[in-house]
Amino acid sequence: MTRLVDSFRRKITYLRVSVTDKCNLRCIYCMPEEGVMLKSHSDILRIEELARIVDIASQLGITHVRLTGGEPLVRQGIVTLVGVLSEIPGISDISMTTNGLLLPGLARPLCEAGLHRVNVSLDTLRPERFQKITRRGDLESVFAGLDAIEAVGLSPVKINTVVLKGINDDEVEDIAMLTKERQWTVRFIEFMPFWNNGWKFGERYVVPIREIRDRIMAQGAYPVESDIAQGKRKDEVGAGPAKYVKFPDAEGSIGFISMKDHICSGCNRIRLTADGLLLPCLLSDISVDLRTPLREGAKDDVIAELICKAVSLKPENGQVAQAMVACPGGNPSLSKIGG
Ligand code: SAM
Ligand code: SF4
Repeated sequence: MTRLVDSFRRKITYLRVSVTDKCNLRCIYCMPEEGVMLKSHSDILRIEELARIVDIASQLGITHVRLTGGEPLVRQGIVTLVGVLSEIPGISDISMTTNGLLLPGLARPLCEAGLHRVNVSLDTLRPERFQKITRRGDLESVFAGLDAIEAVGLSPVKINTVVLKGINDDEVEDIAMLTKERQWTVRFIEFMPFWNNGWKFGERYVVPIREIRDRIMAQGAYPVESDIAQGKRKDEVGAGPAKYVKFPDAEGSIGFISMKDHICSGCNRIRLTADGLLLPCLLSDISVDLRTPLREGAKDDVIAELICKAVSLKPENGQVAQAMVACPGGNPSLSKIGG
């Protein structure tokens, strides 16, 4: 019986955990070239602290954990963390969002440790463009990473593509066509310019998600009736903002994500930042500090109460406009909050 039901009767079952604020890329839409101001090492939750929070959260009703960052694969001990999480009885689904660069070496150990599935970010199919968008790293490694996760059976594979006007929007059809041959779900994400204060990467790069969907439909795709057909688990259906279409006879499918279409009434998630703040809503600045009590020796029931408190503070609706100017930690970027 879950204790994590918020004031608007939403059942919270999904915890996104940012395991680090570090990254081995510098995607132009996510952070400035010099990177973001990193938290000090001692501020970042240790593996055992992360595991303890997830364990307590699982006893309250969390069943799905997604590991993200920053780049989760640069976190020391990531395989150990997955292994420990997979031993927690209430956690039935452990997933990860990654840029994929380190997957060639880590796919197998992660799978063996108990990871279930992976979302890989891929914004272009052109090597020079990949360099331009990420400012480092090579596309070949990402594809090697995708092959590696398929080879070890980490599925379903999802691809996240952030569409940027004048940068990669001419590749939307090519990227969607990957689903004809590969059993991937390609999800196009509308660029969110709400972090544009530091490095002036703003509104002019937005391509409305409806425009992208129309272009894919013009290529002969048709809407897919049921999210379950996309490999979603039953308790996830209706919770996420993606809507899916498919090409006739294609192996995979295509989704569309825009924060503006986010349906708050179906939201089932909370987020933990790498330094131990629990955020009930991405689009608000409410947070509950778990790290301080944890390090002061708080017992499990105290941490449990704090998790319940965060859930009770979850607003009915997030404010996209407000999030564009305010962000927890004062350094607005999904790499900080855990995208
Ligand atoms: N480093 C990992 C990665 O790139 O997959 C995980 C963290 S990243 C912050 C999580 C997701 O957020 C990625 O799919 C990324 O493309 C997306 N993202 C980052 N900044 C974004 C923005 N301004 N608008 C839309 N999506 C964004
Ligand atoms: Fe790193 Fe992911 Fe942000 Fe790119 S989107 S800079 S890979 S955290």
